[in-house]
Amino acid sequence: MNPARRKTYLKALGVDVWVSRSTPGEATEPEVAKIVPIAKVPAKAKAPPEPAAELPVIERAPPIIVPTDWAAVRAMVKDCTRCKLCATRTQTVFGVGPESASLMVVGEGPGADEDARGEPFVGRAGQLLDEMLKAIGRSRSENTFIANVVKCRPPGNRDPEKEEAEACRPYLEAQIKLVKPKLIVALGRIAAQRLLVTDEPLSRLRGPLHAYGPERTPLFITYHPAYLLRSPREKAKSWDDLKKVWRFLQTG
Ligand code: URA
Ligand code: SF4
Repeated sequence: MNPARRKTYLKALGVDVWVSRSTPGEATEPEVAKIVPIAKVPAKAKAPPEPAAELPVIERAPPIIVPTDWAAVRAMVKDCTRCKLCATRTQTVFGVGPESASLMVVGEGPGADEDARGEPFVGRAGQLLDEMLKAIGRSRSENTFIANVVKCRPPGNRDPEKEEAEACRPYLEAQIKLVKPKLIVALGRIAAQRLLVTDEPLSRLRGPLHAYGPERTPLFITYHPAYLLRSPREKAKSWDDLKKVWRFLQTG
């Protein structure tokens, strides 16, 4: 990417650009991040432990066969009632972007703006996400598909529950199968934990290259833009992650 252009975007993001001493005024290429080998991650969600006898049994959405063409998947999501989020949504938020994007970004779930508009990441966090993507030559209109772990807004913007994420997982997996991205980037702790079915902290999940789902799609975890809005000091680490993403997509 044109260094001047990248610098402009990074300035908008509030990220300091490291300038090479040998070429004053020139932004360097994103530093090559060391990519660790694909971690061993269960391809399928781990079987949940048997509930103890005295605990209420959580009702789980039954397995479903999701069709393998876009129109049918869209139609299925639109009228879905597999979890209780269907009762409080305005509309489902399917996802947006080119159907064969090389990068897929996955957030946790729609907020109020997304629920009203029917598109993911259109609020303040979404605007920052668009800036972050721009900095590495990416956009939802050209080369990046954006979706969420759950397609319906959790009321009051609470975290999507494990059962809701599991009920919605077949749709995300169908989207991944259709898009066939080279890389998935999950945003924030909740998206990461729900995707990988783990309670590990973000500090452990961010860093290694994971593998997601039956296709073993490479997956990086980074900060959620809403978190970056609250903690601007983490933007430098977020930029490290974006460089890693950029580098990954440039190669192989
Ligand atoms: N946060 C998310 O995780 N997803 C959205 O679509 C919007 C905000
Ligand atoms: Fe269906 Fe997913 Fe919405 Fe739950 S969140 S109702 S599983 S589309």
